[in-house]
Amino acid sequence: MAGGGGRMGGPFARGFMTEEEKANQPKITKALLKRVFSYLTPYWKQFAFVLICIAVSSVMSLYPSVLTGKILDEGIIGRNKKMLIILIIASFGLTLASNLIGVLEAYLNAWIAQHITYDMRNQMFQHLQKMSQRFFTSNNQGDIITRMTSDISGVESVITNTFRNILSNSITLVVALIMMFRMNWMLALLGVCIIPLFVIPTRKAGKTRWKLTGEAQECNDEINGILNETMSVSGQLLVKLFGKEKQEYGRYRDANGRMIRLNIRERMAGRWFFVVLNTVTNIGPMLLYLVGGILIIDYNKNISPGDITVLVGLLGRTYMPVNNLLNIQVDWMRSMALFTRIFEYFDMPVEIENAPDAVTPESTNGEVEFSHVDFSYDPERQILKDVSFRLESGHSIAIVGPSGSGKSTIINLIPRLYDVQSGAVRFGGIDVRKLDLAFLRKNVGVVSQETYLFNGTIRENLLYAKEDATEEEMIEACKKANIYDFISSQEAGLDTMVGNRGLKLSGGEKQRISIARVLLKNPALLIFDEATSALDSISESKIQEAIDPIIEERTSILIAHRLSTILAADEILVVKDGAIVERGQHSDLVKLGGVYTELYNTQFNRPLGNIEKLEAAEAAAETPAEKASAGIGEIVL
Ligand code: ATP
Repeated sequence: MAGGGGRMGGPFARGFMTEEEKANQPKITKALLKRVFSYLTPYWKQFAFVLICIAVSSVMSLYPSVLTGKILDEGIIGRNKKMLIILIIASFGLTLASNLIGVLEAYLNAWIAQHITYDMRNQMFQHLQKMSQRFFTSNNQGDIITRMTSDISGVESVITNTFRNILSNSITLVVALIMMFRMNWMLALLGVCIIPLFVIPTRKAGKTRWKLTGEAQECNDEINGILNETMSVSGQLLVKLFGKEKQEYGRYRDANGRMIRLNIRERMAGRWFFVVLNTVTNIGPMLLYLVGGILIIDYNKNISPGDITVLVGLLGRTYMPVNNLLNIQVDWMRSMALFTRIFEYFDMPVEIENAPDAVTPESTNGEVEFSHVDFSYDPERQILKDVSFRLESGHSIAIVGPSGSGKSTIINLIPRLYDVQSGAVRFGGIDVRKLDLAFLRKNVGVVSQETYLFNGTIRENLLYAKEDATEEEMIEACKKANIYDFISSQEAGLDTMVGNRGLKLSGGEKQRISIARVLLKNPALLIFDEATSALDSISESKIQEAIDPIIEERTSILIAHRLSTILAADEILVVKDGAIVERGQHSDLVKLGGVYTELYNTQFNRPLGNIEKLEAAEAAAETPAEKASAGIGEIVL
């Protein structure tokens, strides 16, 4: 649940905390308050004006009640028509003026709140963009989005409601009580004794509604969960393929049924609440009329019927402020919890940032060197152990190894998605931690297994790599990536929509567009995390045809699953449990009888005798394309 006290229970159910909120009450320190108010500082003039507006409109809104007494005593009972009209116009004018000030105050309040949330959102977005990959992999995406959206929106309500409530309710209550006591202390005292009669049942009914709303919200979350699971593309696919439609419908129907029962109970709690409220609000005035009347009739006290009406009016105006002020402590706690949650994100250290003395070379040859690199995602588990290798400019390296052995981890260290624990990764001869981050990432191009395309056209996706790319450059990149034929066969050509995350395209098409995108970027080093598992063999060979000539001419690293790629690389690194256990050429490695041979045999499920046949084909073939057509390219490691 969002820290903003997500559940709603009507205005009378606000003053209660959930168990979770009670357990996570923030510590309100001077530093926290200072930080919260620092967001108001740029708008202090507007805020001061808002405070004045609230004070003036709160006092003004009480005066019509006072004038009602005068209308009765001096106008009607005093039979003074002129006075009656003047008082009615004055009362009307005061109500109008107080409402107009209210409009101005609401506008300024909304303006300040929106500007503060605007500042916070931008600040948070910039901060999150600096966060490392570790942050995004270890935090739930939903959580991050909640902080960006509902938590920060909650801040808006803190400003428009909490601050405003404290001030306007305190002023209204104090002024109303002063007026009442000045008119008649005895009746005022009676009024004060009546207030709890209103407040106690209100809070009791509020508590019931609060409980029911909480249960309804849990039920609603469950329904949303079911919908999210079953109505997503992959969820629906799973339901269909496993024939679980009936079961899922049952689950949905049950939750839906629970929801309506809860909603009916909540509505009824509301009804009972209004019965109590209406009765109590009627008892208060009647008691005042009774006691006031007895005072006039029996004791001839210096009090008029108008005075009693004013007291009744003022008493009615005290109920809400008392109730609201009782809720404010909870509102305040909730607001502070909200700020604490937001500040928690702001205070997360930026793990990967430019070194103060970062260098930006004129150009780079794309050389990569790993020197005794150790790395772990979590302190408990070492992933890379003493990894050392060197990739010279213009050459290529293939990394192979069992799933989970650390291949992707090795390449993640080059564009500094993570930093090494010990040892060093050098790019163009310079430690990546000393290189300007923008320069480094501009010069390293990665085609990852999970291709990400934005919802838009193919053109827009390509331009993401190079904003000013010409039509010719884009076509050339698409041709090199072996996707141009597909694009030109589409009616809209480059303006074909790719759909949400590229879902309108096949895995292979997406992959080739992402290759074209990285070619447009034209980096000094190209990294391919070869995705083959999700592709059919035609898509695979199309990708292969695209990749092979590229690696011939560029400095590249490939996480290879196909033999033809491995054969095209200048060196093969075999990784197992985060360490390089073998390295060299295919023909040597395969004879070693080690990890590579095992990988080769288990993946192909063929006796070693076939290797000779493949080697003969390899010897006969000269280009990677020929190797592929000789049958080697069809074999997947
Ligand atoms: P595959 O061929 O299946 O892609 P891989 O060899 O590329 O595997 P890596 O992705 O580098 O393997 O993962 C190496 C190990 O690190 C795995 O055991 C994995 O569980 C772990 N790992 C990967 N990413 C993270 C992460 N963000 N946080 C914690 N552990 C991770």
